[in-house]
Amino acid sequence: MSDHYKFINTPLPYAYDALEPYIDELTMHLHHDRHLQAYTDKLNELLADYPQLHDMSPEQLIRYSGRLPSEIAVPVSRNAGGVYNHRFYFNAMSPQPQRSPSEPLAKAIRRAFGGLNGFKERFKDAALSVFGSGYAWLAADSRGRLFIVPTVNQQTPLTRELIPIVNIDVWEHAYYLKHYNERGKYIDDWFTVMDWKRAGELYAQSPRRPAPRQ
Ligand code: MN
Repeated sequence: MSDHYKFINTPLPYAYDALEPYIDELTMHLHHDRHLQAYTDKLNELLADYPQLHDMSPEQLIRYSGRLPSEIAVPVSRNAGGVYNHRFYFNAMSPQPQRSPSEPLAKAIRRAFGGLNGFKERFKDAALSVFGSGYAWLAADSRGRLFIVPTVNQQTPLTRELIPIVNIDVWEHAYYLKHYNERGKYIDDWFTVMDWKRAGELYAQSPRRPAPRQ
């Protein structure tokens, strides 16, 4: 798939109601067809007059946002973030999720958080701690070490030289229709549909260079 201007709103990899009863069908419709569509349309609009940027992916636009033409740098990074983060979020869930991580991700989780339950506790705390709108991420550094990273609005761990493994959208539009203001219940439901298979693939593809010898 070509992943550059003119961006299209790629379909969900499952049906809108596939994550019921954990994530409801109406939320998935609005979240994908309106929220992600709006970021996609806005990004296309911003880039229309900049053909030199038309071969860049959302990830590249985010990574190189500091070198974009100054008049569009901020809105392009925000809307490329909106596209990248939402695709990442939708792809991280599955109606038939793998329920726990495989190696080598499982080992890295044991090392960083003591195990899956320790990870879930820390990740939930981070997702609850996002003030206002944002995301919580599990991300790896270039040595394969794992970190839990909260981000605000549409920021990503990419600009911190980290490799995203998992994210959860905690903007209210991600859960308000079903869970009202109870973000914690949404996070618990999200754990039920998040797919460790995809997380494990991303981790396995990440560089994981050994630490240099002292
Ligand atoms: Mn969202």
